[in-house]
Amino acid sequence: MQDDLSRYCCQNAECADHGKRGLDNLTVCGRYGEQKQHRLLYCRSCKARFSERKGTPLFGSQLTQDKAASLFQHLAERNGVRATARLVGVRPNTVVRYSRLAGGHARQLHDELVAFSPEHP
Ligand SMILES: [Zn+2]
Repeated sequence: MQDDLSRYCCQNAECADHGKRGLDNLTVCGRYGEQKQHRLLYCRSCKARFSERKGTPLFGSQLTQDKAASLFQHLAERNGVRATARLVGVRPNTVVRYSRLAGGHARQLHDELVAFSPEHP
């Protein structure tokens, strides 16, 4: 599979290319995870290495990608916090936290999460 990094950007706040996508400054320098499902990215501009998941709402979170994608989908469809929590099977507090992260971009985040999901064997 070809590595499409156009959706990613450098996560180093000191980097001149921080937060800019599609600059071709990123390369894949490794993989990690139980099934090597996550990529380690390298920024040519600042020589930083970071996880592809850093900077996404999922980084460091307890939710699986499927659950988070489902949560954002319900939010994007304007389901309330309680309804979303019930449908996804998480606590309402979790939904509130994620909706803050989404900042009104639930649809976009849902699409990105689906794009970020590891290929299924
Ligand atoms: Zn950088």
